[in-house]
Amino acid sequence: MQKNFINGQWVAAASGQTLPVHDPSTGEVFDEIARSVTEDVNHAVAAARATLSGAWGKMTATERGRILSRMSALILARAEELAQLEARDTGKPLSQARADIQVAARYCEFYGGAADKVHGQHIPYMNDFHVVVLREPYGVTAHILPWNYPAQMFGRSVVPALAMGNAAVLKPSEDACLTPLAFAAIAKEAGLPDGALNIVTGLGEEAGAALSAHPDINLITFTGSPEVGTLVQKAAADSLIKCVLELGGKSPQVVFEDADLDRAVQFVIRAITQNGGQTCSAGSRLLVQQSIYDRFIAMVAERFAQTAAGTPAMDRECGPLINRAQKERVEGFIRRAKDSGIQVLAQGKVADGVPDGGYYVAPTLFGPVPRDHQLACSEVFGPVLSAMPFTDEEDAVRLANATEFGLLAGIWTRDGGRQTRMAKKMQCGQVYLNCYGAGGGVELPFGGYKKSGHGREKGFLALEEFCIVKTVVQYHGE
Ligand code: NAD
Repeated sequence: MQKNFINGQWVAAASGQTLPVHDPSTGEVFDEIARSVTEDVNHAVAAARATLSGAWGKMTATERGRILSRMSALILARAEELAQLEARDTGKPLSQARADIQVAARYCEFYGGAADKVHGQHIPYMNDFHVVVLREPYGVTAHILPWNYPAQMFGRSVVPALAMGNAAVLKPSEDACLTPLAFAAIAKEAGLPDGALNIVTGLGEEAGAALSAHPDINLITFTGSPEVGTLVQKAAADSLIKCVLELGGKSPQVVFEDADLDRAVQFVIRAITQNGGQTCSAGSRLLVQQSIYDRFIAMVAERFAQTAAGTPAMDRECGPLINRAQKERVEGFIRRAKDSGIQVLAQGKVADGVPDGGYYVAPTLFGPVPRDHQLACSEVFGPVLSAMPFTDEEDAVRLANATEFGLLAGIWTRDGGRQTRMAKKMQCGQVYLNCYGAGGGVELPFGGYKKSGHGREKGFLALEEFCIVKTVVQYHGE
């Protein structure tokens, strides 16, 4: 049974209640987590607040960085054990879970190394004045995270906050939170002072709502759905605190007639099957120039039909989806698309021998999808790809930007001028030219335009999100 991690201790929820943890590949319960409520959140925030004027607040940036670097080494030393845990908790294929653990370690390495390299400024001002700009931690940072990449999300959200000297309170998803809890044990072993990292598990409407409304947090960062993001931003507004939102996506892969089609097809498949399509930056819309539409779709369909959803150990293109509700939600999109008469161009399969109770959905390619159909506009968060033709560059821009989201875009063309024109016109936070990185790299600033959110994570920009600037003006005389 898993407990909360508060002030360096493992503690049960104040109510004594727990929530079951399901294995998505079988549907069976294999563990329990604490069902936290306001009292537990209060305890965690108080512990975080206390260490800011205690051991954690007194540490130098270099010491903070060394702790994060030690965490990286410990994660790598236990990489296989952690990957097995991540795969069990989320259902993802083992090779994906292994990659996720490597990325989590890389976040600790990157931000550990960067902790003492975010410097202030000296500003030339009037002769008898001395002006410096300091960068200080916000204080207590709250982190509410989703279930799709729990290990990576920990690295991406919590680690840069710690690097800048904040004390963090994390509410991971009730559907997948075991690797963040394992990272808490690793953080303690690496020497993180008690209270600098606190984890309260539980339901969003209980523990999540209590954390986002807590009067003593200084910044809140939320990754998840636009609907809950709106609630979190309202709670932040009530407290007048900063809010960083990383929300959904409906990212396009735009394939022009002069593209290297053999290369593009591999990325197109990977970008929608990775993590069963449960990736905010999944390439879920395939926009293809009319002149090559039939040829390229035939290439994609042939490869798509070979994909399968299987158990983590089968290590196929997809695992199961996270839970029954998500499976039913995705199946609903597929059923409604079929009912609307949209053609299934190719379908992968559910691998032979998967357990009956698992949440598997076969990868499905639809096309041509009408531009105003919900499949063309809404985030499915499953292995469902919508193909649509476009005529020319202008039409491609219009179509690529036609959703309320703006997270990523992939542009496939050999024309250098078109690459730059397209990159400049995409309303989204990352543009990939002749490549695509669902999830992006640790070093690469990441975040949304429009309803995909605001604020930036990853890279050095994340460190700037987690520190507040103070300008100190000193009159020192002649
Ligand atoms: P979700 O919004 O349902 O839940 C996210 C987190 O919010 C969970 O920890 C949940 O417990 C909590 N929560 C739920 N209700 C809450 C409330 N009332 N108050 C406070 N917290 C609450 O999202 P999900 O289903 O876990 O994840 C899928 C969504 O996340 C998709 O829309 C996906 O695109 C998005 N996502 C975005 C990014 C990104 O970086 N942009 C990354 C991963 C996932």
